[in-house]
Amino acid sequence: MLRSDFFSSDDAHPVAIGAACDALFGEEWLAWEQRTVRDELRMSGFETTERTAQKLAAYRCARTTIGPWADWEIFENVGHAFTDGVPNFELRQPLDVAECAITMDCLRLCRIVTFAEDVKKYIAACAATDEFLYLPEPLTFAMQYLCPPMYMCHEHGGREIDDLVDGRCDLCVGRYEDGDVRDAPLPELAERGARIQRYSLYDYAQLATRYEALAVADLDTVQVEFTEEGMQLGKLLDVNSRRKRARAQYDLQMREVNEHVRNA
Ligand SMILES: [Zn+2]
Repeated sequence: MLRSDFFSSDDAHPVAIGAACDALFGEEWLAWEQRTVRDELRMSGFETTERTAQKLAAYRCARTTIGPWADWEIFENVGHAFTDGVPNFELRQPLDVAECAITMDCLRLCRIVTFAEDVKKYIAACAATDEFLYLPEPLTFAMQYLCPPMYMCHEHGGREIDDLVDGRCDLCVGRYEDGDVRDAPLPELAERGARIQRYSLYDYAQLATRYEALAVADLDTVQVEFTEEGMQLGKLLDVNSRRKRARAQYDLQMREVNEHVRNA
């Protein structure tokens, strides 16, 4: 039996209560109206709250559309619903980094879909707003936008974002000079632009290594020094502990769902 507050508790995990609905009603509930979901749960002896209703709506969105993977605004709204904020569709409210991480975890539990570059850019923008320098898993894939690889071209003396396919400076080979459709060097310039030096906007290797070591040791609170790196580590460990708390809620609640299925 599921606890009577399984669908109304504040720590209800969105994917666990979604899976519970799958178990209670079969997949057809995914197509029901929100009001019907509430009424059917009530007839089964469960109340929902505004928060848990939003979590169920976000779960259904992730199960039935690719919106959260394709569109950053949907990712943001689903993220607020998954992480306890009630989404406000009139207002932009950026997610914090822990909310982005927990949202990613929830989405992965629903389905595996490839994220659009726009969602990666959105996550990088959230991280920049909160002044993060490094993004651990499951957000590392947004690092290319938080800390873009750069190159210095010794031929024209400029610094550009490194998205070169052939290792030649886009400006010096005139890649985009006759419109942006050709995406190839001008033939007469094809030999130019090779004197480039790649670098990273800043170096986060040491921060990443120190964080990963602390995360593996499963430490939530460590005495971090009052340096920029220490502050960064503190923020990263906080993200890690919020993510772990959500994961623990999921594991616990899924045990209840599976037990319910076995006894049904
Ligand atoms: Zn150049």
